[in-house]
Amino acid sequence: MKITINGGHYPGHDSGAVGRTGLQEADINLDIMAKVANFLRAVSFDVLEVQVNALRHIVDASKEFGSDLFISIHCNGSYDAEAQGTETFCYTLGGESERLAACIQKQIIDHLGTVDRGVKTGNFYVLRMSECPAVLVETAFITNESDEALLADEVKRDEFAAAIARGVTDYLSA
Ligand SMILES: [Zn+2]
Repeated sequence: MKITINGGHYPGHDSGAVGRTGLQEADINLDIMAKVANFLRAVSFDVLEVQVNALRHIVDASKEFGSDLFISIHCNGSYDAEAQGTETFCYTLGGESERLAACIQKQIIDHLGTVDRGVKTGNFYVLRMSECPAVLVETAFITNESDEALLADEVKRDEFAAAIARGVTDYLSA
């Protein structure tokens, strides 16, 4: 079982969303990506971590690797500082990607207690172009005070990563 984990954005080039304390999405995505990869490798999955600037290169790397599953990790951002919670995207509903998204979403909501914004469709390049089940996880809103505090906390990032990894194993064992 080969799984590609993509940390969204690229530190030093594309920060992604930025929190009120200056916390940068790309750095958080990198850390959670590495933690998810470690959890999945510990249960013998073959994992590729990829975080690069060009979206095309992400999808190409995933295809070259021969991915069975693709997971992109992001933090959400909004001009509305009240917006908070977790949402997981797939390109279309009704297939394996939605099932994977639902497993990951449930684990995060159950274990982190973030606001459940649900599983949604999203026309993201990395989802549209993937040839395997593919999801994009918006872990929490870096632009919301309480969500940003979660993302800034190393222990909570570890819990986000564990929840995403358990979502994968739930998906595969169902
Ligand atoms: Zn992002």
